Amino acid sequence: MTIERTLVLIKPGAIQRELSGEIITRFERKGIKIVGIKMMKMDDEMVEEHYSHLKDMPFFGDIKKTMQRTPIIALALEGHDIVKRVRILTGDTNPREASPGTIRGDYSISLSNNVIHASANPKEALEELQRFFKEYELFKYHRMNVMDYAEN
Ligand code: ADP
Repeated sequence: MTIERTLVLIKPGAIQRELSGEIITRFERKGIKIVGIKMMKMDDEMVEEHYSHLKDMPFFGDIKKTMQRTPIIALALEGHDIVKRVRILTGDTNPREASPGTIRGDYSISLSNNVIHASANPKEALEELQRFFKEYELFKYHRMNVMDYAEN
């Protein structure tokens, strides 16, 4: 097992509903290590790059508008198999199909306000982390009360 990193974005819909703390707590309570965190505004270029796979979809304008309504909070999370684990905790894209207990299942109210983004696979995670964080914004440190062996 290798240690991976993944990217989570707390989207404007969640910022406006003041859910950031609850979402961050979900990851912390699950023993997931935060190695980077920052608030920032996504400019046109960033949204277009981040959602380039959807640029021809009719709802792309909607995505652009909702992702730029407020700043977002970007999180870099680290652990074994973290990309897959965070996607499981995130839940389905569609709020109607997201299982209760997942972040989207519990908080998401619509497709365009589905609370968070989480990298889909390790390759995307690497690219997305580079898009949102400089190397010096990602930290190495030891936690006090979580055993760093096992799956963390
Ligand atoms: P995910 O975010 O689960 O990886 P996608 O990459 O397919 O899913 O989509 C990116 C984001 O685009 C979704 O999280 C959602 O906010 C938005 N989106 C996807 N499909 C639609 C749609 N049909 N209408 C509006 N927004 C959508």
